[in-house]
Amino acid sequence: MSHYNIAIDGPSGAGKSTIAKMLSAKLGIKYLDTGALYRAIGLKAYRDGWREDDGVVADLLNRVNITVSYDNDGKQRVYLDGEDVSEEIRRDFVSGYGSRFSALPSVRKALLDLQRRIASEYSSVLDGRDIGTCVLPNAKYKIYLTASPEVRASRRYKELIEKGQEAEYEKVLSDIQERDYRDMNRKVSPLRKADDAVEVNSDELSIEEVINKIMEMVK
Ligand code: C5P
Repeated sequence: MSHYNIAIDGPSGAGKSTIAKMLSAKLGIKYLDTGALYRAIGLKAYRDGWREDDGVVADLLNRVNITVSYDNDGKQRVYLDGEDVSEEIRRDFVSGYGSRFSALPSVRKALLDLQRRIASEYSSVLDGRDIGTCVLPNAKYKIYLTASPEVRASRRYKELIEKGQEAEYEKVLSDIQERDYRDMNRKVSPLRKADDAVEVNSDELSIEEVINKIMEMVK
C-alpha cells in the first residue's frame, strides 16, 4: 500500500498506545506516541516551574527543542533539548503536567508541525487526542478508542500493582476522570470523536479483539 496514516484518538487509559504499537508492528509502519511530546513539554514546565500562562509559555517555547528518533526495533525516543527523556516522561506526576500544559494553544501549536512532519514522512499510526480532528483530518483510517472510566481505572490500577507500585483504585479513577474532563473541555482541540472516525469501545473486548477489528478496516 502507498503512504497512509492511521489516527487513533481516545481518553486516557483506553489502550491506545498498546493497540497502536501492536498495529505498527503488524503493518510494518511507524508508531508516533503524541502524548510523549506533550509529556516532554510537561516535564520541562515542571523542571523550570512554568506558570500556565499562554503568552509567557509561547515565549518560553521558542527556546525548547523536542525531537523524536526511532531505535532499530521501532521504539520511539523523545528528546528534550537533546536529552533523552523517554523514561522520565513516564513518571506519574508528568501525566498531570502534560495534560495541564497541553490545554494551552501555544503548546498545541508548537507540536503540530513535528507531528505532521513525521506523519508525512512515514506511513504511521499516531495516537493522541486530536489526531483525527486536527493533526491529520485527512488520515486514511480513524479510530476513536474508548472504554468506561471504571474499566480504564481498573486496568491501570492492575498495571500499577503488577509493577509493584503503590496504588489506590479510587485515586486512579479520580485522576482519569480529571484528565478526561480537562482533555474534553479545553478550548483548543478538545478530545472528541472525529465525525468520520469508527468508534471502538473496549469495555468488553480483549486487546486481540480490538486489533482484529482495526485490521479488518485496514485490509
Ligand atoms: O497519552 P498520554 O497520557 O501520554 O498523554 C499525556 C497528556 O497529553 C494527555 O493527558 C493529554 O492531555 C495530552 N495530549 C493531548 N493531545 C494529544 C496527546 C496527548 O492533549 N494528541
